[in-house]
Amino acid sequence: MDFSAGSAVLSCSIRYFSFYGGPLPCDRFREWRLGCKRLRLYVLWAPLSHGVCEKASAQAYRAAPLSAGYECTLYVYNRVEPWSCASPRFLGRGYFFYKGVCQMINVTFRNGAVRQVEAGTSAYDAIKALGGGTYKNACAVRMNDKIFDIRTPLDTDCEIDILTFDDDGGRRAFRHTASHILAQAVKRLFPQAKISIGPAIDNGFYYDFDVEKPFTGEDLVKIEEEMARIVKEAIPLERMQISPEEALALFADEPYKVELINEHAGKGELISIYRQGDFCDLCAGPHLTDTGKVKAFKLTSCTGAYWRGDSNNRMLCRVYGTAFPKKSDLDAYLNMLEEAKRRDHRKLGRELDLFAIMNEGPGFPFFFPKGMALRNTLESYWREEHKKAGYEEIRTPLILNEELWHRSGHWDHYKENMYFTTIDDQGYAIKPMNCPGGMLAYKRRPWSYRDLPCRMAEMGIVHRHELSGALHGLMRVRCFTQDDAHLYMTPEQIPSEILGVINLIDRIYKVFGFSYHVELSTRPDDFMGEIAQWDAAEAALQKALETTGTPYTINPGDGAFYGPKIDFHLVDSIGRTWQCGTLQLDFQMPERFELEYTGPDGEKHRPVMIHRTVYGSIERFIGILTEHYAGAFPLWLAPVQMRVMTITEDQDEYADKVCSALEDAGFRIECDKRREKIGYKIREAQLQKIPYMLVLGANEAANGTVSVRDRSKGDSGTVPLEEFIASALEEERSKKA
Ligand SMILES: [Zn+2]
Ligand SMILES: [Zn+2]
Repeated sequence: MDFSAGSAVLSCSIRYFSFYGGPLPCDRFREWRLGCKRLRLYVLWAPLSHGVCEKASAQAYRAAPLSAGYECTLYVYNRVEPWSCASPRFLGRGYFFYKGVCQMINVTFRNGAVRQVEAGTSAYDAIKALGGGTYKNACAVRMNDKIFDIRTPLDTDCEIDILTFDDDGGRRAFRHTASHILAQAVKRLFPQAKISIGPAIDNGFYYDFDVEKPFTGEDLVKIEEEMARIVKEAIPLERMQISPEEALALFADEPYKVELINEHAGKGELISIYRQGDFCDLCAGPHLTDTGKVKAFKLTSCTGAYWRGDSNNRMLCRVYGTAFPKKSDLDAYLNMLEEAKRRDHRKLGRELDLFAIMNEGPGFPFFFPKGMALRNTLESYWREEHKKAGYEEIRTPLILNEELWHRSGHWDHYKENMYFTTIDDQGYAIKPMNCPGGMLAYKRRPWSYRDLPCRMAEMGIVHRHELSGALHGLMRVRCFTQDDAHLYMTPEQIPSEILGVINLIDRIYKVFGFSYHVELSTRPDDFMGEIAQWDAAEAALQKALETTGTPYTINPGDGAFYGPKIDFHLVDSIGRTWQCGTLQLDFQMPERFELEYTGPDGEKHRPVMIHRTVYGSIERFIGILTEHYAGAFPLWLAPVQMRVMTITEDQDEYADKVCSALEDAGFRIECDKRREKIGYKIREAQLQKIPYMLVLGANEAANGTVSVRDRSKGDSGTVPLEEFIASALEEERSKKA
């Protein structure tokens, strides 16, 4: 290489920059003034934090080009004697690109646009070169199915997807940046606080702190104010990669970081850290370019959380928050949160006496009579629909021997989440999934191609260990009932079976008024089976989604190793999404269990298998429905569909008559003959969200009528009892919401 041109201003990017002996902001190296004597490069370096220039020198570590760049070792010299080479302080290793030797690369964007830029140009600058204002909204980029920081230098031809706040990956980078702002604010205000981890989560972010006493509401207000200052300062976030030893020195005062670093130490990997001004965090990223982009944020709550979710560890203080690029979006979200709080299924479950989790069984829900009424209604509707769709129902044992779980692969891949027991000195496991039992049910007899497809459904109770910190009402439990089914088919039957499952799920979700979107996950790198088989299965899934007009997105490479899958995310009445249904093709389980059928050729063949659920977990689905309807279940689902109430004791006898007529019609009813004012009785029934209140006074008793109160419309007039029964039966049958 020839740097004999003397001093020249070059632009270059540094990657894999490691530093030593204290913080060194690596993006200050954007502009290098290089003068060269042989292979020694002199670098003019201006750290903004000091406001002065220091001189450093870079020594080419390797003279040969490394994909259009050079690796170099950097030494810093004493500023007072800038050119003294007596005792250069080792600064780190860098990787830089020299304009004169940089090759040009092609960057292709999702919309097909191509831009030619210098190797080493950051993704951000490449997006800027695209023109328009897109770069302003870019939060991260996706390359080869991985998500990267927007500053990532591009060194070869590549295809990039620009991720904005509207993409999951972009949103996570945005909110993860907000979590660093939170941690920085906490460290500024509470320097003794120890930081641990702070990821982006579905609707925001959190950060766990080890503090003397948990933060109060007032503390949170102060922290928010400090965060606002950090946003205003628009501090750049800088990524660096350092050695584990350097990381240990940097985070010596942060025991949780030390624990995390030690887990990486010895693997020969560099440790990725992010710095924003006076704050530094151990983090893989990606992040936004500066704190100024987090325009609207809010700390939403503060709870205790064990370090790593393990109750043997110290309880940390977890601060939750959320962040948006616009204030109006934040406000809409906060309103939704208020609404969600009002609808919290744990609160409604208690108030409506449906279900509860007790201290005696963390993660193991109880269902009370009214909750069971709801659950049984859901199950019988499910049975009806499955019968119509050609399913047969089975039940397999909760406990099965160890050998089975070795054969199914659960022992190797899922043991951590399983519960075990011993019977007659033999090891047994409580099933975490219904599949192995389902396989045995298939294997109980020989099958001919004429018998297929075979659709076996099971309301299977499964136990899966969850960390106590992860438990949440019915949404996250340790025991639940999967509305499972396993379908066995010939390869030719795959398309029609997929279509059948999609149609069934669609029909059931619509009854509850859920809209939904679908994600199709395709072949991962570690796939099992043959590519042709995968291609056919993926094409069948895609075709079925297109046939049914179901909107879907593709998650490339996100399928299970045993087959591609589609997940159904339903959208509830306040706009939240929940992943419930799933449909997975499986090429592996039939192999492991040596499933067979006899083909038309008289030979044995392997069937293809589908695992699928509609509700997902009945318990969780009930939690979702409770919040979706805010406890006001439609007539067909309501645990108590109507409550009969008398005005005086004179109507007691008539009330009995009305009640038996309603019961004969099959309704779930209650009768309130208490000597209380009717206004009081109505208010109570209203709080129980009972769809219909039937008020009986002297006139009603005399005329054989009922005075109907609808829980949402109020007084709905007086009608003959038979007429009310007929219309209520019709409403129940229609399952209208
Ligand atoms: Zn981070
Ligand atoms: Zn299964």
